[in-house]
Amino acid sequence: MEHKLEKTDAKNFVLAGKAHFTLLSGVTGTHYTYKVNKHKTDDIYFIKLLVGNNNDSDYQYIAFFRGDDMRVRTSSKSRMRADSKPVRAIQYLIENFDNLSPQLSIFHMCKCGRCGRTLTTPESITRGIGPECWDRLGGDAQLYPSTLFSDTHWVDKVFGGEGESVA
Ligand SMILES: [Zn+2]
Repeated sequence: MEHKLEKTDAKNFVLAGKAHFTLLSGVTGTHYTYKVNKHKTDDIYFIKLLVGNNNDSDYQYIAFFRGDDMRVRTSSKSRMRADSKPVRAIQYLIENFDNLSPQLSIFHMCKCGRCGRTLTTPESITRGIGPECWDRLGGDAQLYPSTLFSDTHWVDKVFGGEGESVA
């Protein structure tokens, strides 16, 4: 089962540490499935691409990025060139979280982006992160204000406003 992620949840989900998702272009219908895993201790992420039919085993390492600069790069171990479409597609996502095209859709597999466990509640499925991991990531006062700034509910929580418009 797949579930479409809201754009405002994309950054929290993809950077949670164990994200597994599909990107779909509404223009061409092209889709790619990725795993973005964070290094155990360092602020660095490794990107793998699904290249076969087995959704559990057929993944190849294609690129990486650091959390502090968010620039997707290939390395000598990458199995695809920097100008290949799957690398450019994930590069577009990572480098444009705050300004993603409406034509791009992101689907997660109903597994928590941080721990990989199956998501069960509607709230968890909506954001792609389970309740315990959500709390560990900072709870409702979330990680990435820029992507959520248009969400008045979030703004109210953080700034204590009473229904003030932030548009
Ligand atoms: Zn989790």
